[in-house]
Amino acid sequence: MSTSAAFETARKLATGLADALLPPVIRVARACADVIVPPACVACRQPLADHNMLCAPCWLKVDFIRPPLCDRLGIPLPYGTEQPLTSARAQAEPPVYDRARAVAGHAGVMRDLAHKLKYGDQHHVVPLLARLLHEAGRELLADSQLLIPIPLGRYRLWRRAFNQAAVLGQALSRRCGVPHDPMLLERPRETPSQVGKTREQRQDNVRGAFRIAEGRANEIYGRNITLIDDVITTGATIDAAARILRRAGAKRVDVLALTLVTDGGGWS
Ligand SMILES: [Zn+2]
Repeated sequence: MSTSAAFETARKLATGLADALLPPVIRVARACADVIVPPACVACRQPLADHNMLCAPCWLKVDFIRPPLCDRLGIPLPYGTEQPLTSARAQAEPPVYDRARAVAGHAGVMRDLAHKLKYGDQHHVVPLLARLLHEAGRELLADSQLLIPIPLGRYRLWRRAFNQAAVLGQALSRRCGVPHDPMLLERPRETPSQVGKTREQRQDNVRGAFRIAEGRANEIYGRNITLIDDVITTGATIDAAARILRRAGAKRVDVLALTLVTDGGGWS
């Protein structure tokens, strides 16, 4: 049996067991809901047996980031050992945050799902994305005390009407039980796109972009914090947010995202 077939069999068994344990009233409500909105693949809308899932062809088009990973940047490494490893890139340019993890590379189906939420306002993707974030971030979330989404500037927030990172953070918080606070970190200054800028230009671009809400720095002090974002494209943006949290005395600052640009182009 191939790995993907074995995975699919295990998933079906787990789904069947979970269904059998549901209270009857929820099973009936779910059956009614299935008639009104039949379950379909979250990405391509092909009919499926259950909600909030991907069909097998779409699942195979997700560029999952799997161990062994660089313990700091979360990028894949060609080999692993029993001990956490740090990539040459992280050693040459250590990030301000402690550890980053992401579900997948910024390509294919996972990038499309992130865009459906961010630009298409399609919130039906959120339960699946929150589940995948939970799985990719288990190591970080084990002793995390607070989830903080990377905030949008006021103009972008007004134009989009919601912050996709906060939507993901809220759904993840419900799953993992770690509190979520989308108001603690603020972005008083709009920052132009980081695309096409050098490392130094990116750092200048996001300098002073973040601040902690007035009078709330004591809520950061001594705590393990996990920043949430939809995509990690430039280390500079999350470094700038992590720097502010560190100054306020955060004990640890990790980053959890849906996608990560793993080639050299996006990183600084
Ligand atoms: Zn599909």
